[in-house]
Amino acid sequence: MQSVRLYAKGDLRVEQIADPKPPAENEVTLAVTVAGICGSDLHNYKTGAWISRSPSIAGHEFSGVVTALGAGVDHVALGDRVVVDSRVQCGRCVACKAGRGQVCDSLGFVGEVIDGGFAEAVTLPARNVMRAPDGVPDRHLAMAEPLAVALHVLRRLSPAPAALVLVTGCGPIGGLVALLAARAGHEVAVIDRNAQRAACVANATGGRVTTIEQATGRGFLYAVDTTGQDQVIAALVAAIGGGGTLALVGIGRAGPVINPVKLVEREITLVGCHAFGGELAEVAALLPALSPHLDAFIAEQIPLDAVPNAYARHLAGQVEGLKTLIMCSKG
Ligand SMILES: [Zn+2]
Ligand SMILES: [Zn+2]
Repeated sequence: MQSVRLYAKGDLRVEQIADPKPPAENEVTLAVTVAGICGSDLHNYKTGAWISRSPSIAGHEFSGVVTALGAGVDHVALGDRVVVDSRVQCGRCVACKAGRGQVCDSLGFVGEVIDGGFAEAVTLPARNVMRAPDGVPDRHLAMAEPLAVALHVLRRLSPAPAALVLVTGCGPIGGLVALLAARAGHEVAVIDRNAQRAACVANATGGRVTTIEQATGRGFLYAVDTTGQDQVIAALVAAIGGGGTLALVGIGRAGPVINPVKLVEREITLVGCHAFGGELAEVAALLPALSPHLDAFIAEQIPLDAVPNAYARHLAGQVEGLKTLIMCSKG
């Protein structure tokens, strides 16, 4: 089958490889339908930060159709369309036992610690697949995972009803956070150094484009940073109103720029947000209603053999629009 495997930092290869092994007990095999390229895929390619095996079929955002079932699997059936839970968790640590697998002591992700979805087929632990709702196109099912991340961010931010939510960074996660916040009745303002991306997200969500300087005067109390850039986070800490909450979901460069005295004197809460907890099931239920809004987030739909080129274009800032989707199935 055709696959896209990451060998090392900067070394991504399109290869013809053997089909995945048949499912063992409590595993399923999927024909992958559509996969999405995530900012974390690009980060891992650029930095090698999360490479734990080589080579590994990349990709943790994808949808598929069940083509084989191992023993003991009864929550999905042959032919079911499914969405994929990207988290590979131990199930035994304190966090896992408390239902917070996103902070599992040995958390890994599909596409890194086990083969992922940038291929025609994949065999996964059965607990990583969930039956998809009917009537939602495969390209939108592939966006369930980043939508779950976005919903988790909003839960962690916990803004007051109708309050302004400010989002820095208009990539897929920033865009989807803005969409979910707007649909939950919040006023939404977005910031990106790329005016076109900011306008794209504002148009798709009913939010407006702003700057940190403009937002400071409005006294915002809730912000989400998806850039992970230390200067952006420091600017938000300086600008957010006293008692405000800043949710951090972007992973960029670590930098010691936040002054703790500012957090103390103005009672600012910083909230880290990693992946998602139970939100994937909620998103699956929301997808039929969200589906009409999702095409605005899709930049392009490409074949598997175009993935390395798409990584290069994303990293060079040459992709207009937010999410690149990969059409993985042969048919
Ligand atoms: Zn992702
Ligand atoms: Zn665990």
